Amino acid sequence: MTSETNIDAGRQIETAMPAKRVVVAQELGYCWGVRRALEIIEAAAEPAAPIAPIGDVIHNPQVVERLRERGVQGAASVEQAAGRGFRRVAITAHGMGPHLAGEAASAGLELIDTTCPLVTKVQRLAQKLVRQGYFLVVYGDAYHPEVRGVIGWAGTSKAVAAKKIADLPWNAPRGTSGEGISTPPRKVAVVSQTTKNVKELMAFAQELQAMVMPEGGEFRLCNTICEPTSERQNALRRLVEQDRVDVILAIGGRKSSNTARLAEVGQSLGVDSHHIERPDEIDDAWLQDAAVVGVTAGASTPDDVIEAVVAELVSRGYAAPEGGIRPTDPEYVPAY
Ligand code: SF4
Repeated sequence: MTSETNIDAGRQIETAMPAKRVVVAQELGYCWGVRRALEIIEAAAEPAAPIAPIGDVIHNPQVVERLRERGVQGAASVEQAAGRGFRRVAITAHGMGPHLAGEAASAGLELIDTTCPLVTKVQRLAQKLVRQGYFLVVYGDAYHPEVRGVIGWAGTSKAVAAKKIADLPWNAPRGTSGEGISTPPRKVAVVSQTTKNVKELMAFAQELQAMVMPEGGEFRLCNTICEPTSERQNALRRLVEQDRVDVILAIGGRKSSNTARLAEVGQSLGVDSHHIERPDEIDDAWLQDAAVVGVTAGASTPDDVIEAVVAELVSRGYAAPEGGIRPTDPEYVPAY
């Protein structure tokens, strides 16, 4: 056992702590938008009237399997869903470009929209910025459905997805000229994929701002990283600071961008961090010198998967987290 000192009403209380223990981030797992999308899909699901979400309804294979049993099965496109006999298609929490509603209507399919309102906000903002004459940069992964959807809603060729300056079509600040030089237009605005890391967004924006501002350029940064994503990253920081964590396990599907980000945040805080999908992926070597294992989970990770990872750690000699995994507040609605 180790001990921890708490200050209570001027008295110092020594609290005995197990030497090997699991601690969990205060905010982890399903975010508000994913929980909402799943509720909509589950309420509409009927095995007799199957639904085909276009793309992954959630980046978690266990949940995808559970939904499949209730008649919810992903399709790559509206055309494919219609070809497989589906009469209902769904837009996932990540959102889609406006073309999808048109395709569903043309195919005579019912459309169920589970787009997270925080993503809808970014789509509307993209349209507004384009109307105001900005060239739109979406800071994020070009392949991600959310980013592709935001660019679709922008509805212009003057929009690009970028994660680093080298992804942009410009390579020099405004006012420079010469062979092979390409400079930004006068007005450039940046929005972010909702699940990105705020520090990385700021570093990207600072570099881009320095390219746009010379010669009367106008630069606008809109921080559209969603509150639940920021909260997950902040909760992980607090966990590392307060509990002297030796190893971090970030639980989430392989394709979950925000889980990957949590593992990166853990690593950037100097803690050995691993992105895992299932309990059996925990490598004994990671735990060899680890007394305190910190657990966090991405926005699409269900509670039972988190619980299974904690149970696995308990079976390997770690004390379970005090107070369980987390309380969920059914009244919570993020700021947007
Ligand atoms: S991560 Fe944020 S934007 Fe994405 S679904 Fe969850 S709450 Fe909505």
